[in-house]
Amino acid sequence: MYLYNELKKIADQYGVKYFGVADLSPVSDEILKQGGSEVAEYPLAITMGIVLPDSIVNRLPDRKNKAVVIDYKHHAYDIINDRLDFTASLISTYLQDKEYNVMPVPAGRKTSQEKLCGSFSHKLAAHLAGLGWIGKSCLLITPEHGPRVRWITVLTDAPLEVTGEPMAERCGDCNLCVEACPVGAFTGRNFKEDEPREERYQAEKCDKFLQMKEKPYRICGMCIYICPYGLKEDK
Ligand code: SF4
Ligand code: SF4
Repeated sequence: MYLYNELKKIADQYGVKYFGVADLSPVSDEILKQGGSEVAEYPLAITMGIVLPDSIVNRLPDRKNKAVVIDYKHHAYDIINDRLDFTASLISTYLQDKEYNVMPVPAGRKTSQEKLCGSFSHKLAAHLAGLGWIGKSCLLITPEHGPRVRWITVLTDAPLEVTGEPMAERCGDCNLCVEACPVGAFTGRNFKEDEPREERYQAEKCDKFLQMKEKPYRICGMCIYICPYGLKEDK
């Protein structure tokens, strides 16, 4: 517990709201397929999430307005990803100094243009650590902030206790993200560990839609905005 507490202390300083440890053994085959053996050799993932500012996300329906786009990219993407990367870097150094193996996985970067994903799924780690479920939008949904959270992961073999079981989905009959997507990228199926992502989400539809937009208007985020777990009426 000492090690966990020390790591959490580092994360707390940078405003990390969600902090957990996931056992990766149940998904080792999927990790190997996505990231290769260098990524798959780690037994645990430290998963961390920072909550996006509501005032910025709540303006997404007005994303034809240049100020809305610029504020969103700055405060809901670049700055939060930098804070996550910085925290992951500090935690990695701390663990490496204690002679554990670590690999920080960058926040918000696609390493495969073909699959439109990174070398490791931050959402999957957060789900396995018990911090939320993977919704019909394929985003990690937390009970308190919905999908309004950005995630990062540090893979490690440090002796940490896992923090929870994967959370059961709570989307129920809700279909709001499926209906809100302007290009119909979601099929409306619930997440299943053994089912490929393509069964639920056609990432290329979203990517094409955004690439067709003029710079700097290449954002959408309606699947983040609309989820009732994040969109609270009193916000
Ligand atoms: S960002 Fe927009 S286009 Fe892309 S999946 Fe979400 S709702 Fe659909
Ligand atoms: S909008 Fe509804 S269906 Fe989509 S992820 Fe949120 S709760 Fe699930």
